[in-house]
Amino acid sequence: MSYSPYLLKGQKALITGASSGLGEASARCLAKAGAAVVINYHSEQKAAEKIVHDITADGGEAIAIAANVAREEDVKALFAETLQTFGTIDILVNNAGLQKDASFVDMTLKDWNLVIGVNLTGQFLCAREAAKEFLRRGVKPDVSCAAGKIICMSSVHEVIPWAGHVNYAASKGGIDMMMKSMAQELAPQKIRINSIAPGAIETQINTSAWSTPEAKANLLQLIPSGRVGIPGDIGRAVVWLASDDSDYVNGTTLFVDGGMTLYPGFAKGG
Ligand code: NAD
Repeated sequence: MSYSPYLLKGQKALITGASSGLGEASARCLAKAGAAVVINYHSEQKAAEKIVHDITADGGEAIAIAANVAREEDVKALFAETLQTFGTIDILVNNAGLQKDASFVDMTLKDWNLVIGVNLTGQFLCAREAAKEFLRRGVKPDVSCAAGKIICMSSVHEVIPWAGHVNYAASKGGIDMMMKSMAQELAPQKIRINSIAPGAIETQINTSAWSTPEAKANLLQLIPSGRVGIPGDIGRAVVWLASDDSDYVNGTTLFVDGGMTLYPGFAKGG
């Protein structure tokens, strides 16, 4: 897929958890659309540096910065370095996330706190720093008609309950209300905040769900479109939500799920 390199020209984007999967695809797509990108990574430094290398070799602008998004001091340092390098920030993709699954009665407080800490608190901490910079700088009409854009990576599990993954589903349900409340509060200042809810996309987070023929066949039962998603499906949606093409879209969740939220079990029953 190719974009006009002018779509996001002059814009600076920070993508959390961008050393793999959907964050990597988002960063690569944003860079293709002309944005300078910050590849935030947690521990996969080599992978992050490879993405920076690829983007710069292609004529784009990218840097990699390590930070644990669940730690306030890390997030503050991440934004300080971003602003020092690029001067400002126009787009935040709140993508970093993880799973730590267990049956409900076996779920430890540690595993609950880990998932809520990264998936929900991490998005809060990053969104707050981004919003402060958007408010400080305001709209620059030659760059974008918004003062800033935040895209929260949610999941179909913000609406579909998920047994054995109570911490994960709770984190994504929390993102929905956090995103909407932030959008309501900041819309008057021309800040747009939306979520993307991916269905099943082939990444390392869910390898066991698609990597064997049997697992894949089971998964496809849940996807009316008849294919598992690829990271580029999400990267392209990120570019659209980050661009002025979606200027009238605010406080909503874009489901990119091949119809997973259409309750496919009801196609032949109910
Ligand atoms: P992934 O494991 O490839 O990506 C997650 C990234 O987050 C990794 O790069 C990881 O290093 C990073 N990360 C984890 N903890 C971090 C921390 N404390 N600080 C900074 N970074 C951290 O998996 P993915 O599928 O690309 O997941 C990306 C996002 O998409 C997650 O929020 C996930 O919940 C969401 N999602 C994925 C799917 C899917 O089917 N793949 C579906 C719905 C939602």
